[in-house]
Amino acid sequence: MEQKPIGIIGAMASEVAALLAAMKEEKAEELAGLVFHSGALEGVPCVVVECGPGKVNAAVCAQTMLLRYSPRLVINVGVAGGVGSQVHIGDLVVAAACVQYDFDTTAMGDPLGTLFIRRGAESEDILLLPCCEEAAAVLLEEARSIYGGAHFGVICTGDAFVADPEKGRFLDETFQAQAVEMEGAAIAQACYMNGVPCAVLRAISDGANDGSPVDFPAFTRMAAEKTSRLLRAAVGRL
Ligand code: SAH
Repeated sequence: MEQKPIGIIGAMASEVAALLAAMKEEKAEELAGLVFHSGALEGVPCVVVECGPGKVNAAVCAQTMLLRYSPRLVINVGVAGGVGSQVHIGDLVVAAACVQYDFDTTAMGDPLGTLFIRRGAESEDILLLPCCEEAAAVLLEEARSIYGGAHFGVICTGDAFVADPEKGRFLDETFQAQAVEMEGAAIAQACYMNGVPCAVLRAISDGANDGSPVDFPAFTRMAAEKTSRLLRAAVGRL
């Protein structure tokens, strides 16, 4: 039987461009307006797609990919705002877990970010959406050998470009977050609901602060090239 592919989702063209250029493409298929590129990356069957920014784009993309291509692992790659004093522009962050920090039913007494997921007749409350430990370990190991290391921790996801140091501090204090972005936890939720492992790999394009509107366009290309190089090095072991 043919090996199931690895699914790779980036929000923006710049985040998947280097991967698409490196991929031996066999087929491109459009579903829900998204173009899924199937082929081999470093000899490994992969499906690569640009989903567009934000949680709904990411969730629609992930669910479509899961149903159509049955990936054995879904990886979300891209750039993110750095959170906390230890995380700097150009650093890499691998998610241990993801949180939808803007899912808010706190007025009813629930902790911020708690999701309610259907399980048939049951419902499950979940805050930290899990990421695959084995895949994260491989990404961290490759990051160590190529770039001298990566951060490993919580990545926060919400439908906002964060350019406010107060918000960054809040995410650090509330969730011990290391990065903030707009897709990871939506993809992690889709994977969790389908029982498929996922990984989130981000390179820091900005500090989620006053400098972000200038830093994001200036550093996104460099950051996206870093994640692409790392993923190419790691994909054979995933
Ligand atoms: N119109 C813009 C939208 C980019 S939104 C464009 O397409 O160029 C920013 C993207 O980068 C999102 O996909 C998000 O995941 C990531 N990102 C980088 N820095 C971020 C920050 N400080 N806050 C939130 N998301 C960030």
